Amino acid sequence: MNPKISQFLNANQLTTPCLVVDIDRIEQNYRQLHHAIPSADIYYAVKANPALPILNKLITLNSFFDAASWEEIHSCLSAGAKPSQISFGNTIKKVSAIQAAYQANIELYAFDTLEELQKLTQHAPGAKVYCRLAVDNMGADWPLSGKFGTTTEHAIKLLLEAKKAGLYPYGVSFHVGSQQTDPHAYIHAIEKSAVVFNALATQDIYLEMINLGGGFPIQYHKDVPEISQFTTTIQNSLTHYFGDTIPRIILEPGRYIVGNAGVVSTEIIQSSQRGKANGPRWIYLDIGRFGGLAETEGEAIRYPITTMYDGSTTGPVILAGPSCDGVDVLYQKTNYHLPLQLTAGDRVALLNTGAYVSTYCSTCFNGFTPLEEYYI
Ligand SMILES: *Cc1c(COP(=O)(O)O)cnc(C)c1O
Repeated sequence: MNPKISQFLNANQLTTPCLVVDIDRIEQNYRQLHHAIPSADIYYAVKANPALPILNKLITLNSFFDAASWEEIHSCLSAGAKPSQISFGNTIKKVSAIQAAYQANIELYAFDTLEELQKLTQHAPGAKVYCRLAVDNMGADWPLSGKFGTTTEHAIKLLLEAKKAGLYPYGVSFHVGSQQTDPHAYIHAIEKSAVVFNALATQDIYLEMINLGGGFPIQYHKDVPEISQFTTTIQNSLTHYFGDTIPRIILEPGRYIVGNAGVVSTEIIQSSQRGKANGPRWIYLDIGRFGGLAETEGEAIRYPITTMYDGSTTGPVILAGPSCDGVDVLYQKTNYHLPLQLTAGDRVALLNTGAYVSTYCSTCFNGFTPLEEYYI
């Protein structure tokens, strides 16, 4: 476990469940990505973890921000970000949110349908807009495909339409899926972007920007490629498709920036033998699907677990959350093994839980208090 977090947990008997996030680790992650691809602008995907200490740190590092709602934009502005540092990246925006963002001088907006374009035309006249392309999410443990993006043909039409409507057709975006473990996923998406750039250039519209979205993976239960493998593949692919007129590149990492900076401390409520006498034990934690571990859905994201008995004899377990809901089972198909000694009252740590946990926590399902957060 991260030594700073481990020390903090040992020094303070905190009420569980709680999330402890190491802000220095976030700075390291940001710098590492910036170093791997210095020509790109990093727009932190605020939804991964919008906590103020994270926004504050990233502002000192001159980060940009990808916001999905007026509320996220407002958090960034309140933390001291300039409007020019924020992109309104959700393609599905309330009119009231567009109005508030436009009033606050937000310049950059995503869209992928004619209807959204019409909203932007009316409520954010003259704004810079970029069209989201639908791209393959193969290789992603947490895919986003289907719900967002459009075809290259439609994107070309929409960006032409944007120009006619007095908006500023600025570029394209895509997202290859979260926890994307295959660097090649970016190649095909960059090729699609080039198709849109070239088609519009024949109409005298010169796009300026590609937003490569997020997706960069962190290590959970298995190794993932180094960040340099992603950035090298991206650089090579940009050179291949754009030669020496590479557009402005935007990245929107969420998980990569905050995921490995967080640890959830949780208490075992019960460890019991259910079903077959020689079957796996059921271990019930005081955090589950509704306490923030939403990404255990389909057992897609598998958090490493450490305990005070690591190194001793282990046995197979099924891990479940505390609520009275049948879907509140975290890992049943995945073969988790934990020390046999573990019993009710013991604390265990779920590693790499800095992203997509705190905000997924329900407010009071079954009356359980939402997890506490500590930023150190
Ligand atoms: C969620 C999201 C991101 C961040 O994705 P990660 O996989 O966490 O890096 C970036 N851009 C958009 C548009 C998103 O919806």
